[in-house]
Formats: sequence, structure tokens, C-alpha cells
Amino acid sequence: MSTELQGQIAIITGASSGIGAGVAKSMAQAGATVVINYPSPSSQPAADAVLKEIIDAGGKGMTAQCDVSKEDEVARMFADVVAAHGTVDILVNNAGLQRDAKFHEMTLDQWNTVIGVNLTGQFLCAREAIREFLRRGPRPEVSVATGKIICMSSVHELIPWAGHANYASSKGAIKMLMQSLAQEYGDRQIRVNSICPGAIQTPINKPAWETPQALNSLMTLIPYNRIGQPQDIGNLAVFLASDKSDYITGASIFIDGGMTVFEGFATGG
Ligand code: NAD
Repeated sequence: MSTELQGQIAIITGASSGIGAGVAKSMAQAGATVVINYPSPSSQPAADAVLKEIIDAGGKGMTAQCDVSKEDEVARMFADVVAAHGTVDILVNNAGLQRDAKFHEMTLDQWNTVIGVNLTGQFLCAREAIREFLRRGPRPEVSVATGKIICMSSVHELIPWAGHANYASSKGAIKMLMQSLAQEYGDRQIRVNSICPGAIQTPINKPAWETPQALNSLMTLIPYNRIGQPQDIGNLAVFLASDKSDYITGASIFIDGGMTVFEGFATGG
């Protein structure tokens, strides 16, 4: 257990699996009280299991059901957290999904579902978080910053992705959402940054790692030659939420084993 986030309340969206679960565990280990958000009753057992692991390890937290693409549900989740814990200090906008299709076959439903969760969900949660930071004002006893928002973006805010135009568009847009908020609220000591993961071993990209052949093919994209783990992202999220990163805002931080140095060019292009 460390104390970097001691006394702070962190909402992590989409935290019943994958990266969100990893971030929740890392933040709880750093002393935060974590809110493990999950979208629907079917993911409640997984959210409960993440909470149990955190509590068994001596951490603190709660679960909160809310579909981040629904305005009323997001408002209710924030109200519930403020009622239970007094405020929110950290938001990790992590919930996300893919609905892949060739672009000429992509349905409006596939487009809207991805934009609704990955982008509008981040808008709705960030807006509630900033409203709460402004209402509450500084809390110097726990952090230099009045509030911190971490947006889970992707290497695909930089790398185009054929067959995933809706997903890549949502992540490209998160970059501008994040930077606009950093610009608009920097003078209120609200820090907003993005984490841009490469390939992290989670349910969202199972086909890319579940067979040795798929994993070998993935490794041709990753100079560091291993797939990332949720803990890798958790470590960075704790740093970005802590005062150790107090001069970082408006930044996209890539954490990808070197994927964005374009390994395909290693032999001269
Ligand atoms: P995941 O599928 O395990 O996690 C996504 C989570 O979002 C799930 O827990 C899911 O229940 C939740 N979710 C989906 N719709 C929701 C909604 N409407 N409301 C609330 N929660 C909802 O996959 P992951 O890899 O852990 O993905 C987490 C984030 O990381 C996503 O934003 C994803 O785009 C991003 N990301 C992942 C990778 C990777 O390689 N795994 C790479 C780059 C970015």
C-alpha cells in the first residue's frame, strides 16, 4: 500500500474488467477510495469481484451501475458518490467498446453505439466531474490540483485503423475533448490528460492474443515484444492522478511497448 492518493475519491468507469479493473486496483493500492462503475446488471458479479479483491487487500471502494452514455444515469452516479463520500477527486474515463465493420458496411447503430459510449460517455462523465470540482473548490489536504480527469484514449488517436473507423474517430475526438478541457479549466487547477494504450491483454482484443499465431502476429507491431497488462496502465494512472505529475495537463501519454515508433520501419521501410 502506498499513500499517493490517500483520502481521494476516484470514479473509474467500465471498471468491472480489463484496464478499468486494473486501474481501480492500482488506485486503491495507492490509498484512493475507488468507485467501480459497470454498465448493466450482467456485469455486477464481475464488479463485485473487483471490489472484493480490493477490500481483501485492505483497500476501500464501492460499485456503481451506470451506462455512461445516458445523461440521467451519469448524473445519478455522481450524486450517489457525492452523497456517500462527500466529493469526487479523480475521474478515470475508461469505459469503451468496439463495433467493428468495414466502413462501407458499417451501420448507423454501430457508429452511434461506439460514439455514444467512447465519446459522449466521456463528455457526460467529465462534465459531471468538473461541475463537482468547481462546486467543491480546492482540497489542499489531499492534492495540489482541485481535480484530475484521465481519459482512456488509445494509440488509435494517432494511428488510423481500417475496419474500425468508428473506434478510431472516437479516440481522435477524445484528444481534442481532453485538450479543450485542459485549456478551459487549467486556471482552476483542474488537470486533464489522456492515456493512450497500445495492445493491452483484456477482453476487448481477445482475438489478437488468444492463439499463439495471433500473438506472434501482434508482436510484429510491438518493438518491446510483449503484450501490455492492465497493471501497466494502472501504474501510469496513479502517477497521472497524483501530485507527482502536477505540471502535466493537456497531454496524451502513449504506453504501448513502442507501437507508435512504427516497427514496420525497423528494417529501413
Ligand atoms: P474491456 O472490454 O475489458 O473494458 C471495457 C469496459 O467498458 C467493460 O468493463 C465494459 O463493461 C465497460 N462499458 C462498456 N460500455 C459501457 C457503458 N455504456 N457504460 C459503462 N461501462 C461500459 O476492455 P479494455 O481493454 O479494458 O478497455 C478499456 C478502455 O481502454 C476502453 O476505452 C478501450 O478503448 C481502451 N483501450 C484498450 C486497449 C487494449 O488494448 N485493451 C488499447 C487502447 C485503448
